[in-house]
Amino acid sequence: MVKKNTTKTGKKKTPSTVAATKRKVQTAAKSKAKEPIEEVKAQDPKAAEVIVETLPKATVQEELPETAPVEAAAEEPSVTEPVEAAAEEPSVAESVEVAVEEPSVAEPVEAAAEEAPAAESVEAAMEEAPAEEPVEAAAEETPVAEPVEAVAEETPVAEPVEAAAEESSVAEPVEAAAEEPSVTEPEEAAVPEEVYMSPRRSVAFIGSECYPFVKTGGLGDVMYALPKALVKQNCDVKVILPRYKCIPWEYQQKMIYRGSFEMDLCADGRSFYVGIMEYVWDGVVYDFIDNEEFFSNGNPYTNLIDDIPKYCYFAKAALAALNYMDWIPNIIHCHDWQAALVPVYLRTQFVNTKLTTAKTILTIHNLRFQGIYNIPTIRYWSGLPDYVFNKDALVTGWIDANMLKGGLTYSNIITTVSQTYAGEIQSPYYGEGLDAHLRYHSGKLRGIVNGIDYDIWNPYTDARLHANYDITNVLDKKKENKRKLQEELGLVQDDHKFVIGLISRLTNQKGLDLVNAILPQVMDEHTQIVVLGTGDWVYEDSFRYYEGAYKGNVCSNIMYDETRAHRIYAGADALLVPSQFEPCGLTQLIAMHYGTIPIVRETGGLKDTVEPYNMYFNTGNGFTFDYYDAGLLLDAINRAKTFYFENRWCWDEMVQRDMDKDLSWENSAKQYKDLYLDLTW
Ligand code: ADP
Repeated sequence: MVKKNTTKTGKKKTPSTVAATKRKVQTAAKSKAKEPIEEVKAQDPKAAEVIVETLPKATVQEELPETAPVEAAAEEPSVTEPVEAAAEEPSVAESVEVAVEEPSVAEPVEAAAEEAPAAESVEAAMEEAPAEEPVEAAAEETPVAEPVEAVAEETPVAEPVEAAAEESSVAEPVEAAAEEPSVTEPEEAAVPEEVYMSPRRSVAFIGSECYPFVKTGGLGDVMYALPKALVKQNCDVKVILPRYKCIPWEYQQKMIYRGSFEMDLCADGRSFYVGIMEYVWDGVVYDFIDNEEFFSNGNPYTNLIDDIPKYCYFAKAALAALNYMDWIPNIIHCHDWQAALVPVYLRTQFVNTKLTTAKTILTIHNLRFQGIYNIPTIRYWSGLPDYVFNKDALVTGWIDANMLKGGLTYSNIITTVSQTYAGEIQSPYYGEGLDAHLRYHSGKLRGIVNGIDYDIWNPYTDARLHANYDITNVLDKKKENKRKLQEELGLVQDDHKFVIGLISRLTNQKGLDLVNAILPQVMDEHTQIVVLGTGDWVYEDSFRYYEGAYKGNVCSNIMYDETRAHRIYAGADALLVPSQFEPCGLTQLIAMHYGTIPIVRETGGLKDTVEPYNMYFNTGNGFTFDYYDAGLLLDAINRAKTFYFENRWCWDEMVQRDMDKDLSWENSAKQYKDLYLDLTW
């Protein structure tokens, strides 16, 4: 067997050396920054204080005692300041004025419908954004309420919070999210100078879930990590979320009451309470829309009958809350169907408010979920004017309305989470019935791949792991993690087994039919499989069956468990992602960062992020197959297995190559920032 970490000539391997050198340089830089202050402090404490005050922020923070970010945010008496500051922010106000002078977005729907699509530039795309409506009609529907009571600033709302704490009926995914977010305190990264030179933009993120408050899948990860990364790109970010009762108490209790009002919602003028609860963390302001009637369920998503009214309310309340707080962002960035009515409301019922200057982006995280229900129900609950219920906007088929489709029509830009998926969804196979609509709007459609948050997903600092590691000691430590994982899950403990992980929602999107079809052929005396997921009972049951059939070598964890997920990423040798379609996929990114080799189908973001292994040049990050076919999946797994057992030297190099790959949010955040600048220049 080949020695780890050394080449055949006995020299250190290149990636390890590079990483080790990087770490040394960073440590040296940090300690140097501290030394002179210590010296001055010893001689003259006052002078030291003056120096500390004049130092750049990043340096000063290194001098301060470290505190956990959540606690820091909560204990900070000035929790509400960022909002006020944001509202007063001169740069925001200025850009809004500029934006006001710009011709407003849209053209009549009919005119747009006649046009061919495909404008290249953002401006062209904006001009194409269809969907405008008689202003008079919109003006009639003046939104948003008068404050019911004067804003009792800083007054925490005790009652609902207590009620939330008492509620114990929390669904599985939510419980898992409630666990302590892992991770050590994020280091305050020094912001590069070019970022400060990039003009500041204010962005309101609107979506239905966000780690660590509530997460059921990748959307939750993105809603947490992207705003944080955008703050580093000189953006002022406010995240607007529903205040679900299932949000863990530790966060609920730190929320600050920002105000409340009544808002008209339904077609018959029925109005609802909107409360705003605020929480500031890591430079991002989180505003939770509070309404017991809509958000008191244990799980964020229940069934469409309840979810349609809930997210009609949420979309309108999010805009009403911005209006109420007088926080007028340059960009309103909405996510998935749950927030898709935001652009529709903005260009109809909010057209006469200050918010109308904002540009909208709608990001599709998964086109399968669109918020479709019959027209009368959506018309009633949304209270939207009749003219948006046409086939170019909300109407789909003969009798249904589609909330996502409406959002795609009315937003200035559509993005999705990988370039390949942006192309795929314009075809009937992947288009989920919206391919023609997306082809029509292709001029304003972009693909930007997701990243992962290195503060959460970092094998070197991950508190959930049995043994932490980096690129220099991954080969040894991964074995340790593998052994512990086997022990914890009741698997046969054997370093030499090839352990394949699968962490996924158990739905047919994830290619589980293929896995079920070939699992018996994958199982041999050298292989173990660890599954973690919840979802459709068909898959849950089949994986339970396989656990019984291959006792000691298959472990099916039918649950949502963050800690277990982290340990599987660290302890497995390979991770399976054979999806039927995959907009971006985070599991393969996390796996690579943990030195676990992905075996994926070449679709969507999997294709964009996993370069197939090339045996001639010894390059690539994983094993791939193209057609959705069980035989091809089996072939890819067998190639990986053969490589692992017969060419461990190259396998180990791939492990280190994967860990060295830049999968952070920084790159993607820059692309989003460029898009914001394009839209608001
Ligand atoms: P999707 O959003 O389609 O569910 P992604 O790959 O984009 O898939 O994101 C899945 C995220 O959810 C990853 O962070 C993954 O680790 C996590 N995850 C999925 N299932 C589970 C589970 N059962 N327990 C813990 N984490 C899970």
